[in-house]
Amino acid sequence: MAIKVSNPIVEMDGDEMTRIIWHAIKEKLLRPFLDIDLRYYDLGMKHRDDTEDRVTVEAANAIKEIGIGVKCATITPNASRVKEYNLKEQWKSPNATIRSVLDGTVFRKPIIIGNIPPAVATWKKPIIIGRHAYGDIYKNTECVVDVPGTAEIVFTPDGGGEKRVFKIHDFKGPGVVMGMHNTEKSIRSFARACINYAINEKVDIWFGAKDTISKQYHGFFRDVFAEETEKTKDRLKAAGIQYRYMLIDDAVAQVIKSDGGMLWACMNYDGDVMSDMVATGFGSLGLMTSVLVSPDGKYEFEAAHGTVMRHYYEHLKGNPTSTNSIALIFAWTGAIAKRGELDGTPEVVNFARTLEDIVIKTVEDGTMTKDLMLIATPKVDKYALTEEFIDAVAERLRRKLS
Ligand code: NAP
Ligand code: MG
Repeated sequence: MAIKVSNPIVEMDGDEMTRIIWHAIKEKLLRPFLDIDLRYYDLGMKHRDDTEDRVTVEAANAIKEIGIGVKCATITPNASRVKEYNLKEQWKSPNATIRSVLDGTVFRKPIIIGNIPPAVATWKKPIIIGRHAYGDIYKNTECVVDVPGTAEIVFTPDGGGEKRVFKIHDFKGPGVVMGMHNTEKSIRSFARACINYAINEKVDIWFGAKDTISKQYHGFFRDVFAEETEKTKDRLKAAGIQYRYMLIDDAVAQVIKSDGGMLWACMNYDGDVMSDMVATGFGSLGLMTSVLVSPDGKYEFEAAHGTVMRHYYEHLKGNPTSTNSIALIFAWTGAIAKRGELDGTPEVVNFARTLEDIVIKTVEDGTMTKDLMLIATPKVDKYALTEEFIDAVAERLRRKLS
C-alpha cells in the first residue's frame, strides 16, 4: 500500500542528463511507494522558451503558495545554448528567478558516505555552507581608468541632504576601480535564515569576515550577525547551538582542522568560492545537496550540480553513462521529509529517511557510479551505470518496504 502524502509538492523538471535521471527516480523510487500530488512545472529549456520563461515564474509562485518545491538541474542559457536550442532570447538563470521570487538563502550540504572519505581526513560530519546571495561584487559597478585622476564615492541623500564624498584613490596612471553595496535588510534576513536553518539542523553557526581591514563594510555584517544571534540567544541556547564569529582567514583554517558539523555562514564571494572547495573536499558534485530557504519558511530542494551535459552527449551517441543520481535523490527525499514534517505525518518522513539510508548503504556495499568508484576506500573494481545504480536502490527499497 502506497504511503499517502497529505499535501502537494511543486515539481520542477529540467534538462539533459538530470532530466533522464529525474524521471527514473520518480518512476522507480517514488511512484511505487508514495501516493503524492505533484504540481508539475516543466522547466526544460524548450518549454521555458515556448512560454517565454513564464513557467519559471509560475513555478516559483507555486512554491510560495504550497511551501515546498523540488527542482531538477536546468540549463542557464549562454550564447552557444541560444544557438543549440534556437532560443528566442538568452533567458535568465531559473535559479536566479526563483531566488528573487522567494528572496531566500541557499544552503549546501554534502552527503557523507562511509567508504567515500573526504579529502580532509578530519572531516567526519557535513560542513554546510550558507551563502549570502545578494550584493557585494555580484551587484557591483566597476571601471578601468586609463588616465591619471581621482576616484571618489559620492553619496546623495534622497530629499536634498548634503552630498557626501569619500576619496578612493588619486590615480597617477592607469588602474581599476570598483564600487559595491549591500543592504541592512538583506544581511539581516540572511542572518535570520542562518539561525533558523541551524536550529532546524542542530548545528553551530560560524561566521567569518575581514572586519580588521574592512572596519565598516565587513564590520557591518559582523554587527548585524551579533545583533540577530543576541536577539535569538534563548532559542539558540535551547537547541544547544553556539555562534562563533571569526576572522575569515581564521575560519578557513578552523574549518580545515575541524571534524565538520557546522553551518558556515559566508559572505557572497566567500560562499561562491568556499562551496566549491567544500564540495570537492567531500568527494563529488554528485554528493552535494542544496536547499533554498525563504525568510517566511518556504523550501526549494535541488542537487548542487548542473545538467551533466558531457554525460548527456555520450548518452545521445548511444554510449552507456555512469552518472551519479544521489544528490538528485536527496533533493526528493529532502522535499518529502520536509513535507511530512510540516504535515505532521511521520510515516512520510520515515519513507524519505529510509530511502536515504538505502542509498548510502548501497554505496557502502560497493555499488556506485564511476565518480565515486575513483575515490572509494576500500577500492571497488567496477562501477554501476546510471540506471543500474537506481535499479539497485529500487530493489533494496522494495525488499525493505514489502
Ligand atoms: P555540471 O552539470 O555540474 O557537470 C560538470 C562536471 O561535473 C560533469 O561533466 C561531471 O564530470 C561532473 N558531475 C557533475 N554532476 C555529476 C553527477 N551527478 N555524476 C557524475 N559526475 C558529475 O556542470 P556543466 O556541465 O558545466 O553544466 C551543464 C549545464 O548545467 C549548464 O547549461 C549550466 O547552465 C547548468 N547548471 C545548472 C545548475 C542548476 O540548475 N542548479 C547548476 C550548475 C550548472 P566529468 O565530465 O568529469 O564526468
Ligand atoms: Mg562557485
